[in-house]
Amino acid sequence: MSKRAYNFNAGPAALPLEVLERAQAEFVDFKGTGMSIMEMSHRGKVYEEVHHEAQARLLSLFGNPQGYKVLFLQGGASTQFAMIPLNLLTEGKTAGYVRTGSWANKALKEAKLVGSTFVAASSEEQKYMSVPDLSRLELPDNAAYLHVTSNETIEGTQFKSFPDTGKVPLIADMSSDILSRPFDLTQFGMIYAGAQKNLGPSGVTVVIAREELVSSSPEHLPTIFRYDTHASNNSLYNTPPSFSIYMVNEVLKWIEEQGNLSGVQQKNHEKAQLLYDTIDDSEGFFRGCVDQASRSEMNVTFRLASEELEKEFIKAAEQEGFVGLKGHRSVGGLRASIYNAVPLASIQALVDFMKHFHGKYSK
Ligand SMILES: *Cc1c(COP(=O)(O)O)cnc(C)c1O
Repeated sequence: MSKRAYNFNAGPAALPLEVLERAQAEFVDFKGTGMSIMEMSHRGKVYEEVHHEAQARLLSLFGNPQGYKVLFLQGGASTQFAMIPLNLLTEGKTAGYVRTGSWANKALKEAKLVGSTFVAASSEEQKYMSVPDLSRLELPDNAAYLHVTSNETIEGTQFKSFPDTGKVPLIADMSSDILSRPFDLTQFGMIYAGAQKNLGPSGVTVVIAREELVSSSPEHLPTIFRYDTHASNNSLYNTPPSFSIYMVNEVLKWIEEQGNLSGVQQKNHEKAQLLYDTIDDSEGFFRGCVDQASRSEMNVTFRLASEELEKEFIKAAEQEGFVGLKGHRSVGGLRASIYNAVPLASIQALVDFMKHFHGKYSK
C-alpha cells in the first residue's frame, strides 16, 4: 500500500480507504460478470440492483420517511441552482433565499434569472462569518420555497438547526455536510448535494425530495431539466453516472458501518473539536474566521497574522504530506476540510504540525 496523503481537500475530497480498496477489488470483474460496473448496461439487472440499493440506503439512513424520492442527477449542485427555480418558481410565486455566503449567493443568482425572489435572511453584514437567526422568519403566502445552504464550504459556517417553514417547502443545499449528522428529513421539501464532498466521487448529484415537488414540472420546460422526467423514470431516463452511483452506494455501506448518522456525527464532532481547540488554545497565533456558534464541523477556516506566514505554513505543511490547506481563492487564509472520510489520525497529525509550526514561529 503506497503512502496516503493527509487529505484536507475541499472537493473532490478524501474517500474512505476501505471504500477505495473494495472498489479496487471489484474494479475489473464486478460480481463475476467479467466486466467492470462501468462497462455494462444501465438497464441490466446487475447495475439496476446497485442503483436501487443506493436509493434505499439513503432513505434508510434518514429513517425511511414516507413520500420521499431519491434522484440521481448530473451537472453538480450548480445545476440544481437552476433546476430548482425552473421547476418550482412558477408564475405568481416568489422564492426565498437565505444569504450565508458564496454558494448561497450563486443559488440566488440563478433563481433571479428565472423569476421573482426575496432575501429571507442574510449574514452579509457579518461578512458571512456567522449564520443568520432563522427562528422568526416571515414568509409570504406565495412563497414557492425557502432555500438555505446548510454548510458554507468556503466561509466555514454551518447551521446547527433548521426553521419550521410550515407549508412553504424548505430546500437545502447540503453539498458539503450531507450525511455528516442526523436530522429530520421531514422538515425539508428537498435536499440536494453534489457527491464529491461527503458522498463519493464527482459526477452524480443526489436529490432527495418530497414526491409532490418532483411530480409535475412546468409544461414548457425541456425534458431533461424536468424533475418529473427523472422521478417517473427512476433516474434512468438517460444514462446515469453509473460508476459514481456505485461508489456512493459503497460510501453509504461504510456510513452504516460507522454506526449510521449518529456514529458519524460523534466522530465528526471529535475531529472538529480537536482542531478548533488547537486554534483557540494558540493565544491568537491561529485565528478562527467564524463566530463560535456558527462554526462548521466540515470546513474549518482559520488565519495567521499575515499572508506571508500563511504561505510559509502551506509550504511547510505540503512538505510534511498535508494537502488542500489553502483557503478558497475568493477569501484566502487557510481551510481544513474534514469531511466524514477524513480520519481522526489526519487531524491529529495536523494539530501536531500546527503546534510545531507555532513553536518555531513564535520565538
Ligand atoms: C461544492 C459546492 C457546490 C458546487 O457543487 P458542484 O457539484 O461543483 O456544482 C454547491 N454548493 C455547496 C455548498 C458546495 O460545497
